Amino acid sequence: MNEPLSLIEESKISVNALKVVSRLLEHGHQAYLVGGCIRDLILGNVPKDFDVATDAHPEEVRELFRNSRIVGKRFKIVHVRFGREIVEVTTFRAPHTDKYDETHSESGRTLVDNNYGTFKEDVFRRDFTMNAVYYQPEAHEITDLANGVDDIRARTIRTIGNPEDRCREDPVRMLRALRFEAKLGFDIAVDLAEAVQSFGYLIQDIPPARLFEEVLKLFMSGYGEAAFNSLLQHDMYGWLFPDSKRSMTTHATEAVVRLALQSTDNRIAIDKPVTPAFIYAAMLWYPFTEEKQRIEKEEGLPHVAASHEAANNVLAKQQLFTSIPRRFTGTVRDIWFLQYRLPARFGNKPDVLLDHKRFRAAYDFLLLREGAGEKTDNLGDWWTEYQEASESRKAEMKQSSGKKKRGRNRNRKRKRRSGSDTNTVGTPTPSWNP
Ligand code: ATP
Ligand code: MG
Repeated sequence: MNEPLSLIEESKISVNALKVVSRLLEHGHQAYLVGGCIRDLILGNVPKDFDVATDAHPEEVRELFRNSRIVGKRFKIVHVRFGREIVEVTTFRAPHTDKYDETHSESGRTLVDNNYGTFKEDVFRRDFTMNAVYYQPEAHEITDLANGVDDIRARTIRTIGNPEDRCREDPVRMLRALRFEAKLGFDIAVDLAEAVQSFGYLIQDIPPARLFEEVLKLFMSGYGEAAFNSLLQHDMYGWLFPDSKRSMTTHATEAVVRLALQSTDNRIAIDKPVTPAFIYAAMLWYPFTEEKQRIEKEEGLPHVAASHEAANNVLAKQQLFTSIPRRFTGTVRDIWFLQYRLPARFGNKPDVLLDHKRFRAAYDFLLLREGAGEKTDNLGDWWTEYQEASESRKAEMKQSSGKKKRGRNRNRKRKRRSGSDTNTVGTPTPSWNP
């Protein structure tokens, strides 16, 4: 079915993507723009990047573009670079039906996927109808064999073919459906939503590194809170973050994560730097504090050792589901450990903390905890004022919190003698210094 050209506003197409298509056509290949870029153009949006589908094999594409390289393990694709822009060129793929045994895990997931195919096969191996609309810019022609244009107009996310089969074949498609629901505000077709409910558990079969990539797309693209809502609504959150999900029943995890994602979305909107470490710190904060308390109680370890062991345990467990690169786990730990240092506001401690490279993240995190209802004795306000205060005001502030601390220590000694337990989560011990 060919649609009229008025659907696509050609001025919104990247000239570099057009160059790639032209060159492939010139060399006798087929070449189309396809996927998110065409979906976005039909919606009247400016696409963030462009994908090209062609019958040329990766090595042939590589030879046509000096500025290109072959990437991808599961399936080879070619990145053609123009300054900061990358045009992704993918060779038509065949469906997965042949060689089923060799290429699929027991649950039906595709393990290796390097069969090249025809144009038509490429259409039907794509995930959703809205992502399978092809556009040939020189002929100004849309080819829509999967009825994607209608679904884009109806704002519906629908699998090409049977949702159960397509989700089994690649469970990541379920996360993609949720991501598009969040990003585009589309509805997930009823049969696909049912498949997600029934087969969500299959994402446990996906390598953690691939899931981490998907988590980044879900949470770090400017619509993280909406993605979080989708994950919760379709009962997928727990398959990615089981400890975090479990802690929602007893702790303010949902509120803390929501605030972290809102803050990340706002920062992305104004081009400020963001890190997934902040989100992971929020998702796992209560599992961490719970584990720390357990270790203190059951293993009798002191604060510092218990904190380190708890962080190790909680992060190691999460890594079984989604990997977290080491540069981020370091930041997560810093954010957590600093929560126990922020209450120590006497002597030179506040100034040492202000110089810590993660102070700002830790302070922001403290505000999230307060926003989620944790009682911290207005610690956030204190730090807000301290950062802006004059030297003389700083001295005053330290002195008055030093007095409070002495008062608290006396109380604590009395309490200990009476055998009561101190809760270190809401009001972490001020003198603790990891
Ligand atoms: P975005 O706007 O977020 O980039 P997109 O639809 O372009 O969305 P990509 O991840 O860039 O998403 O993928 C490009 C295209 O490749 C998709 O539109 C879809 O046709 C196809 N695709 C990607 N991942 C899968 C998958 N897991 N299964 C089937 N097809 C896929
Ligand atoms: Mg894309």
